[in-house]
Amino acid sequence: MTAPSPLPVDVLVLGGGASGLWILDAMHRAGHRALLLEAGSLGQGQTIASQGIIHGGLKYALRLGPSRSARTIRDMPLRWRRALGGEMAPDLAGTLLRSDYCCLWAMPGIRSRIGLLGARFGLRTKPLPMPVEARPEPLRSWDGPVARIDEQVIEPQSMLSLLASQHRDRCLKIDLESGFEFSMRTDGSVELVRLLNPETSEPLDLQPAHVVLAAGAGNEHLRSLLGLPGQAMQRRPLHMVVARGSLPKLNGHCIRNGAPWLTITSTADCADRVVWQIGGTIAEECVGRDRSETIQRARDCILQALPELDLSGVQFGSYVSDRAEASTDGGARPDGPAMLVDANVLTTWPTKLALVPMLCDAVDEAIEVASHPDATPIDLHEWPRPSVALPPWEREETWTDVLSATVVST
Ligand SMILES: Cc1cc2nc3c(=O)[nH]c(=O)nc-3n(C[C@H](O)[C@H](O)[C@H](O)COP(=O)(O)OP(=O)(O)OC[C@H]3O[C@@H](n4cnc5c(N)ncnc54)[C@H](O)[C@@H]3O)c2cc1C
Repeated sequence: MTAPSPLPVDVLVLGGGASGLWILDAMHRAGHRALLLEAGSLGQGQTIASQGIIHGGLKYALRLGPSRSARTIRDMPLRWRRALGGEMAPDLAGTLLRSDYCCLWAMPGIRSRIGLLGARFGLRTKPLPMPVEARPEPLRSWDGPVARIDEQVIEPQSMLSLLASQHRDRCLKIDLESGFEFSMRTDGSVELVRLLNPETSEPLDLQPAHVVLAAGAGNEHLRSLLGLPGQAMQRRPLHMVVARGSLPKLNGHCIRNGAPWLTITSTADCADRVVWQIGGTIAEECVGRDRSETIQRARDCILQALPELDLSGVQFGSYVSDRAEASTDGGARPDGPAMLVDANVLTTWPTKLALVPMLCDAVDEAIEVASHPDATPIDLHEWPRPSVALPPWEREETWTDVLSATVVST
């Protein structure tokens, strides 16, 4: 097979979750010749598994008052709101919203209530009391404070689809196992990336000025292929529960002991059933527990947090997903997005979906303009394109009816 002449690329992004697609959009808009390579399906890993909450720091301010994490994240809701309204790049108008706000309600106990109050300080988006008539149905009879916070909840799959369609020409599917190879210079920079078309095995050589690793947990493998120092990444898993059936739409956090104990977000599945994603501290505590124990625990917590809710006929499933982040001492969550620079390779982790715009700014600042005036125009029409990942509830095969204790297969 003869080597084709290499195609110069200003920025080569590896990984097409929220980070990779936002970075691709920013690089393209800045006039760089940018391409994105995706090894699986877009957003597979964290973005498609996420609850889609555009946090403004409340979650971090609850326990301690305004922390560094809370200050870092507090401008994000406005930034996302403008992108979702089509007022600033990337143009996310058309992304489906699960909700325009989140509800907060506190379990009985002084720490829970003080947490809710404390969260009012130092945040741009502050919780506001919700009168009974404005509350979602399951919280109308809640005998305690209920607040509203203007943190939007997006449908991650629709954002991924929208960005993928805007950048279809620039997103390529790759076969990581047998159709992907780096050549390095002696200074540790990437000189060439050789790809084989996953359908035809035709080779394509790319000559990137900059390589951005935005592959979430996949960054670990990519860094080892590049010979970059290990131990740069940590994984913090969550054991999430999903429920589907006759459920009301609800998006928000039930606060207990100054932490979001139960975080519920609502969407619809392909059969138009309401689906709840259930996270919060219970998803951290259930890591290592088996599926049925985790589902039972989630059900018990839901019935404490929403005692009037009727769960008859509701089916439950669960999934485990790793949060992939830059390593920290002691494995705590990093304060903000992280970017490591090794020669012409940037390794990125946003830490939160909400923080992707900040990560994008950091990448933008780090990339020097390179131009390839004599470059052959990119003509990759024949190359296969990656599809968008399916959300966990569309992949779940076994659902459990916890009240009748029967297992239902999809
Ligand atoms: C259960 C859960 C709930 C969450 N909820 C929220 C929330 O409500 N709000 C919030 O702000 N944050 C939330 N997060 C965090 C948020 O989802 C992540 O910070 C964010 O989605 C990370 O995006 P990413 O693009 O960096 O990574 P990912 O979404 O993991 O995307 C990585 C991409 O790279 C691809 N890839 C992997 N390896 C390779 C390779 N070798 N070559 C090429 N491509 C590769 C993958 O297929 C994928 O498309 C949640 C996380 C989890 C796990």
